[in-house]
Amino acid sequence: MVNKERLLQTFLEIVRVNSQTKKERAMADYLKAKLQELGLAVTEDGAGEAIGGNAGNVIGVLKGSAEKKALLFSAHMDRVAPGENIKAVVEDDIVRSGGDTILGSDDGAGLAGILELLRIIRERQIPHGRIEVVFTIAEEGGLNGAKSLDTEKLQAKHAIILDSTGKAGTVINRAPAQDEIIAKIRGRAAHAGVEPEKGINAILVAAKAVSRMQLGRLDAETTANIGVIAGGTATNIIPDYVEVRGEARSLREEKLVRATEAMAREFMAAAGEENAQVDLTVNRLYPAFHLPEEHELLQLVKRAGEACDVPVTLMSTGGGSDANIFNGKGIAAVNLAVGNEEVHTVNEYLVLPELVKTVALAVKIVELA
Ligand SMILES: [Zn+2]
Repeated sequence: MVNKERLLQTFLEIVRVNSQTKKERAMADYLKAKLQELGLAVTEDGAGEAIGGNAGNVIGVLKGSAEKKALLFSAHMDRVAPGENIKAVVEDDIVRSGGDTILGSDDGAGLAGILELLRIIRERQIPHGRIEVVFTIAEEGGLNGAKSLDTEKLQAKHAIILDSTGKAGTVINRAPAQDEIIAKIRGRAAHAGVEPEKGINAILVAAKAVSRMQLGRLDAETTANIGVIAGGTATNIIPDYVEVRGEARSLREEKLVRATEAMAREFMAAAGEENAQVDLTVNRLYPAFHLPEEHELLQLVKRAGEACDVPVTLMSTGGGSDANIFNGKGIAAVNLAVGNEEVHTVNEYLVLPELVKTVALAVKIVELA
């Protein structure tokens, strides 16, 4: 049923369109034209202006042809660097990048998969409920397109996102919330050789604080990391300013709060010991979600998997995706694997037969909705 060759050609076309985060204009135009050809009513929202990008989220609506539940299908248009002028190489059923860029199957595979799904629905005249398609901008680096998406006009209560790595049938139904923590530590500058007594070393404060933190995997559900430290100007000056940036994630709200607070406490304590100042900022980047197996949407996905011989495996992840944001906005969402591997690296590749199976699964979901 899935036209593998057509799907591959669409995928190759998509990865040739440049679309790094906040520069999705060409991709948005390409996809709007495709959705229009397929009979969807297409709009673009103002998310691009809101976040400083050159395109908004693209929203397409296909009116229902039967009494079935409304479904939302989503994938993101942007990709990480180095992601421009991608030259994909096809070897048998594997698509790779030219080696100097990422491939862009994150999330070009999801975009191509949704277009193929719509083509199949149209050519086979598959009875369907209302179908909403949302192609988001700026998923990478903060889920900012989805965050700015106005969901008022959307009617679907169930969303299928095509944006997860791994084999077809892998379904992410649980993902952590994430906090970022930024500590701006202010000490006092002094000549390091002449009068070090007058200085307050901001790097020392940061080092003390970080060395006392529990980082890495805190438990099966919680992680913490210090990822950036920047400050100081010369070896002969006691550094008066350091900025430290870190994050914590947990599948459980109360554990995340505890992990973030523990990091904050060490910054405060170390600053106190050295008479330094610290400005702490904590931002909740996205909420956690967990759709239980009994949830109507997961039951539908499982039934569809059985019907098309793509067994469904539910998985929890340590990463956030647009699914976190949709769930946070009251639209139950799961994330389906699309067959890509080693994403965000120049070794990224797509296993085409897995994407074919994911599209088949999506078609069944529409049929059984
Ligand atoms: Zn992605």
